[in-house]
Amino acid sequence: MTKPIQVRFWGTRGSTPAPIGAGTIREKIIRAIGQARGRAFETDEEIAQFVEGLPMSVGGYYGGNTPCVEIKGGEEYVICDAGTGIRDFGHSLAPGAEGSTFHIFMSHFHWGHIQGFPFFAPAYAPGNLIRIYGFHGGMERAFEHQQACAHFPVPLQSMGAKVQFVRLKPGRDYHIGGFTVRGIEQRHPGVSYGYRFERDGKAIVYSTDAEHKTSYESAAREDSYPFIDFFRDADLLIFDAPYDWSEAVLAKDDHGHSDYTAAVELSVRANVKRLCMFHSEPTHTDERLDMLLDDARNYLKIRTNHTGHPLKIDLAYDGLVVEV
Ligand SMILES: [Zn+2]
Ligand SMILES: [Zn+2]
Repeated sequence: MTKPIQVRFWGTRGSTPAPIGAGTIREKIIRAIGQARGRAFETDEEIAQFVEGLPMSVGGYYGGNTPCVEIKGGEEYVICDAGTGIRDFGHSLAPGAEGSTFHIFMSHFHWGHIQGFPFFAPAYAPGNLIRIYGFHGGMERAFEHQQACAHFPVPLQSMGAKVQFVRLKPGRDYHIGGFTVRGIEQRHPGVSYGYRFERDGKAIVYSTDAEHKTSYESAAREDSYPFIDFFRDADLLIFDAPYDWSEAVLAKDDHGHSDYTAAVELSVRANVKRLCMFHSEPTHTDERLDMLLDDARNYLKIRTNHTGHPLKIDLAYDGLVVEV
């Protein structure tokens, strides 16, 4: 039996943080109590069970942190992207824990993917080593700029931990933090990169900020589309899918993101076992996200002729833990 790999989503929102206000929380409580009308709960466990069964739009919140995903199971910390979710990840670690190594894999350097780093507590602990990996040139400059004195009081070089930048090349296998890691270039303004992590015969793919066009003449429909191979047999695919089909094709064409039909299509063709839709649109409410998840699950049923296809689909939320 191989040890399971745990994937924890610390930030799942695209582009900009999207916290909810007191009014929305109040509405959720009113709706939850409304749905409990006429029921009697003897114990706290019964209440917890009832809340567990509510849709996220009533009993939860998809979250407001920008992208940050932790992949556990290797010898050291492995993180994808440094959005605001990395702040919560940093605070989850034992205070004063020094001498740790963190491997942070960057999809690209749009602000939503780096903005949490100045608030990453382990970066202030001398003795920690933080290695930041990416494929773009100018990685260090992007991190330095956001901590220049006009924007932030502590320069990158004064944080305390040793911060190193490592430039990778796509298509090559690297052995980092206990995983075999490979990258692929993705369609996005300024291009982005997806990562495939393998260990003990399991594969996790982190592929955000990527536009897969699904029109009839598009390359994504070809068997030779390189992402089919890159996603092949993945135990978990984390896939940028903030839109529905018409948004992707009409309003958001060339914005650099994909829709749930592309997520499902590519997952089915690549024999992915579990799909997590990711990088939620910051203007979408929890109701809208519940609907997108339902639509994606229904699309899978139609696409596979109601044959009970085993692909499991979720919409990632801050705090979700997936074990593969
Ligand atoms: Zn993004
Ligand atoms: Zn981006």
